[in-house]
Amino acid sequence: MQDTMGYVHSVETGGTVDGPGLRYIVFTSGCPLRCLYCHNPDTLKLKAGKQSSAYELLKDISTYRTYFETGGGGLTVSGGEPMAQKEFLKTLLWGCNQMGVHTTVDTSGYLHANLDDETIDMADLYLLDIKSWVPETYKKVTGVEVGPTLEFAKRLEKMEKDVWIRFVLVPGLTDAPENVEGVAKFVSELGNVKRVDVLPFHKMGEHKWQSMGKAYQLKDTREPTAEETEAAKETFRNYGLDVH
Ligand code: SF4
Repeated sequence: MQDTMGYVHSVETGGTVDGPGLRYIVFTSGCPLRCLYCHNPDTLKLKAGKQSSAYELLKDISTYRTYFETGGGGLTVSGGEPMAQKEFLKTLLWGCNQMGVHTTVDTSGYLHANLDDETIDMADLYLLDIKSWVPETYKKVTGVEVGPTLEFAKRLEKMEKDVWIRFVLVPGLTDAPENVEGVAKFVSELGNVKRVDVLPFHKMGEHKWQSMGKAYQLKDTREPTAEETEAAKETFRNYGLDVH
């Protein structure tokens, strides 16, 4: 496969939450969603990233192979939205497949229809963000429709790809019982979900919105209490899911 150039916001080595083991994380730029709580608003514009060669990144990734072998880690492509640059994503996944490095893609799934099955199959694990179940809430949170995300979840089930689901709990926005319950029920009916992460909303990205001169619409929204987060996790557990 030929080298591909892509726009990259940043690279992080030694990440431990975006997939199993130690992760080499490539944060690509460009995202069609506009999540109210986005903590990386500086990654939303494609060309806000720096043009990078997939081959150069793969060369760098290859130097971490020993760590991955001992720590069970690998590459995670996150963003932004990795699927916004499908050829670049494919080259990164292909290169890691060649090296035997585990691959994870962190995505909303919104653009999945643009990717062929061959590319989808190249990732070992998907971190799929289901930001809401109730369609109106999903639209309010992200600015787009929920349909493609749910279709992608089903496509991954059909392709028997491992999935970790991520759900961000935002008081007054995504914490309505029918919303949490809806995601939990849908996810529990998929046969390929290995784990669910319920992530309490936080305001760590607020300063970025401010420094970009943009209004942060959740400035008056509080973070959920530990009890509220635990209750949401319990809802998922009640559906037999492995919750973190
Ligand atoms: S999908 Fe991720 S990067 Fe895109 S707007 Fe939402 S939180 Fe931000």
